[in-house]
Parts: sequence; C-alpha cells; structure tokens
Amino acid sequence: MSTGIELADRVKNLPPYLFARIDQMKAEALRRGADLIDMSIGDPDMPTPAHIVEAMKRAVEKPEHHRYPSYAGMYSFREAVARWYERRFSVKLDPESEVLSLIGSKEGIGHIPLAFVNPGDVVLCPSPAYPVYSIATLFAGGEPHYMPLTEDRGFLPDLTTLPEEVLGRAKMIFLNYPNNPTSVSAGEDFFREVIDMARRHGIIVCHDAAYSEIYFDGKRPLSFLQVEGAMDVGVEFHSLSKTYNMTGWRIGFAVGNREVIHGLGRIKTNIDSGVFQAIQEASITALDTDDGLLSGMRATYQARRDILYEGLRGLGMEVVKPEATFYLWAKVPGGFTSEGFAVHLLEKAGVLGTPGNGFGDPGEGYIRFALTVPEERLREAVERIGEAVR
Ligand SMILES: *Cc1c(COP(=O)(O)O)cnc(C)c1O
Repeated sequence: MSTGIELADRVKNLPPYLFARIDQMKAEALRRGADLIDMSIGDPDMPTPAHIVEAMKRAVEKPEHHRYPSYAGMYSFREAVARWYERRFSVKLDPESEVLSLIGSKEGIGHIPLAFVNPGDVVLCPSPAYPVYSIATLFAGGEPHYMPLTEDRGFLPDLTTLPEEVLGRAKMIFLNYPNNPTSVSAGEDFFREVIDMARRHGIIVCHDAAYSEIYFDGKRPLSFLQVEGAMDVGVEFHSLSKTYNMTGWRIGFAVGNREVIHGLGRIKTNIDSGVFQAIQEASITALDTDDGLLSGMRATYQARRDILYEGLRGLGMEVVKPEATFYLWAKVPGGFTSEGFAVHLLEKAGVLGTPGNGFGDPGEGYIRFALTVPEERLREAVERIGEAVR
C-alpha cells in the first residue's frame, strides 16, 4: 500500500515492539482453545469496589458533571487527594497549587517531559522499567540515559556512577518505587541521595508511586514527598488504577512542587480538558475508603505471592521475593533467554509471563509474572511450569 502518507520520525524511531511473536503465539493458542494461564497482564482481575461504583452511578446523573471539567481537577477532588496524603503519609499539600488531576498517571508521565525537557536535554530513566518514561522523553526530543537496576544493588540505580557530563545535561529523573517490574520498595536513604543529587544538578524528580498501596508483610512503602527536601525538587505520580481496581476509569494525580505541577498543567490545558467530573466525584469516595478494604486486597495479593514465590522456588528457580506491587520477578533457568523461556512456557505449559528484556536490556535473563490470577490458577501454573522445566 502506497498512500504517500509518511509517519513522523518520532513514531518511526520508536523502539521496536518486542512481543509481536509472543502475541501471535498467544492468539494462536487461544484460537486452538488452549487453557492459558495469563500472568502477563498488569491489570487487576478484581472489580472496582461496589461503594465506588454506586458513587459513580449517583454522580453520573448530575447535569453539572456533564459539562467540561475544570482543568486542574475539581477542588473537592484535589482536597480529597490532600486528605489522603495527610492520612497515609503525613504529608501536607495545598489542594490549589500542589495537586493536579490526571487522566490516569500514564497521561501525566507521558506529558511531563514536554513541559521541561528541551531537545538535547538528558532524562535519567531506570531500566528495566515501565516504557513510558523513556518514550515520553524521546517524544519531547530529550535523550534518555538509562540507569540499570540490578539485583546486587536491590534494584536501586547507582547514582554515584552517573558521569558528570550526563548530570550536567540532565533535566529530569524518573523513578518508580514500589517498582514495576522488580517488585522492590525504596528506603529513605535512597530518596535522600536522589534529593541531594537533584539539588546539586538542578534535576526535576518525577517519582511514580502507582503501587504504593500494594505491599506485603506490613512494610508500608514511603512517599518520596515524606523525605525532607523532596517538595523542593520534584513531584509524585499516583493512580487510582491499581489501588482501587480502577484501571478502566482513567484517573490519577500528580502532587508536589508547585512550579513543576504548574508546568505540567500548562501542557495539559493545551492538550486535554480534564477528567469527567463524575469520575472525580466517585474517586473522592474511593480516596476516603476505609483502609480495611485495602488490607483485604493486600491479603489477597500476599496469599498469591506466597503461592507463586514458594512454588517457583520449590522448582529451583531464583525469584525475587516481592516486597510490594503485584509482580514477581524471576530469573529464567540456565540456557534460556527471557524470550526463549516465555515461548517455552507458552508452548509447553500454557503459561504466559512477560520477558524481562521487554522492560529494557538489563531485564534480560528475567521473566515477570503478574499476580492478577486467582490462587487455584497460580497453583496450577506452578505445577505446569514444573513439568515444562523438568
Ligand atoms: C500501571 C502503572 C501506572 C498507572 O497507569 P494509569 O495510567 O494510572 O492507569 C503507572 N506506572 C506504572 C509503573 C504502572 O505499572
């Protein structure tokens, strides 16, 4: 087909999509009617809690919500975010200037480089990671500098090895703890180091905390903003997607440094028109939810984590014990590449995981399993994997 229509370089130069072969194999297996256990999807399998759905039903009836929303988010939504932050992290936020609604946190992460990154500026991006950080950087004309996350360092980047030349050109750093895909949390010492570096080199810190409420063994993750000086250098991105099983609703928020929030808001007012107000109103109900409900969700994921973690270890696999998130990051057995092992599991066990190299080169040698399937299916998966690796 030759229409004379040509893609822009920024699309042509996107990194190659690595999962085409696996997607095709999955589609074929499903066509054959194979009984697949799909642990490749980072999307909660449980529904949005009923009281949030009920709040949405009431909100959608209100004509005032049928009009354009306010760009920054309803004041009442931003107040609910500030209440939630104070309750959960003891961090005080000004709803007016330090909170911004987002159409899912992906939207804010995808847009923020446009506000601050000039062509040629460096953005420090973890690897392996959620791909949006580096792609948003590229869309803004920036240059990603990858910081490898390796097991020997607890999957925290080594800031001391960043070259001076890179730090001199760096405008922004993306971080994500609790971390997808490696399932670890970060401690206060690390965040202090980040703040110190950001101060010295004038780097804006963008911390993605999408998984802050999915944690295990009672080890509650920190907010970056809890650490002294964080508000001077950065913002935190949050999402209702994972915390309240609301991935389809598309709502999140950015909080923190008011100049950074203002800059992101400037981009957004020129691109989108905010979040449907009925969703914002239902989200107020979500954010005010009693923590008991979230404890129940955590217990569900923790029971699943234990089954898969113990199960895979019992098969002799090396697995990172998840502190948080609903992912499990495992080494592929000797002799396999990440993709080779994913293909092997799909063919021999009908089990689907995500090859680690898809999150960046340092993810090679790993596979990610999502704990978004019920316990009996996880037990079945362990059994089938056991037969496939025997
Ligand atoms: C799921 C996820 C998000 C959240 O995306 P939404 O757009 O809020 O649904 C953000 N960051 C990471 C690392 C994620 O895995």
